[in-house]
Amino acid sequence: MQRLIGAHTSTAGGLQNALYEGKQLGCTAVQIFTASPRQWKPVPVAAEQIEKLQHARHETGIECVVSHAAYLINLASQDPDTRRKAYEAYLAELQRCAALGIRYAVVHMGSHPDFDTGMQLLIESLRHLLAEMPDGVCIAMETMAGQGNALCYRFEHFARIYDALPDERLVICADTCHLFAAGYDMRTPETYHAVWDEFDRYIGLSRLQVWHLNDSKKPLGSRVDRHEHIGEGELGLSAFQLILNDPRFATLPMLIETPDEKRFAEDLAKLWGMVTS
Ligand SMILES: [Zn+2]
Ligand SMILES: [Zn+2]
Repeated sequence: MQRLIGAHTSTAGGLQNALYEGKQLGCTAVQIFTASPRQWKPVPVAAEQIEKLQHARHETGIECVVSHAAYLINLASQDPDTRRKAYEAYLAELQRCAALGIRYAVVHMGSHPDFDTGMQLLIESLRHLLAEMPDGVCIAMETMAGQGNALCYRFEHFARIYDALPDERLVICADTCHLFAAGYDMRTPETYHAVWDEFDRYIGLSRLQVWHLNDSKKPLGSRVDRHEHIGEGELGLSAFQLILNDPRFATLPMLIETPDEKRFAEDLAKLWGMVTS
């Protein structure tokens, strides 16, 4: 079995370049932006781009490509116009992913000054997306750090979504930095197993389908989202060792988003070095 370990690589000059860069860095999976993350005008994907990405998959052997939606997207925004734009942008993202053969479109869960209202708006946005999205793609909901008015930084928040929308196209992307900042300690085998038992109770482990492996600059429970290079933050190497060698997660894509891309190769080498099986 091929392990899927990689990084969020650059699509400058074309989406395919993210795969060639990934190959050089030692990736067997990559995460990309399928459009500029700073603009959210819905853009379709050109037929030529689809072909180039397919060709790059064959040439590099990197079949697993994950997309990350624009950070601006807030599906729970209190402003109806912003919420509608976010909805259209993310629906366009899901459509681009379907055209490109990308299964997972990772998305942030948004924010709202009133938590319960925000959760309701988020659930309604997701309900409509599930009705309109194309086949072959999944909404990968990222676990958040809980910064500011962010939603979905506790497992029970996701449980609320699944209570309303028990749909298998809604999956989870676990970000280690965000989980740690939100108060989930994975540094010892005991705390690590307690976290995943809790996840299983609230959400169900089969729904966890993508990982973001990032260390955290900020301490446990700080609710501040600052990524650090692998093993150089408050989380430390032990958590990554446990995740990488947990057979329940061995088939899932694991992607780094550490702060300095010049050090991606170094971070990836550390992760590959910790895989024992
Ligand atoms: Zn993210
Ligand atoms: Zn983050």
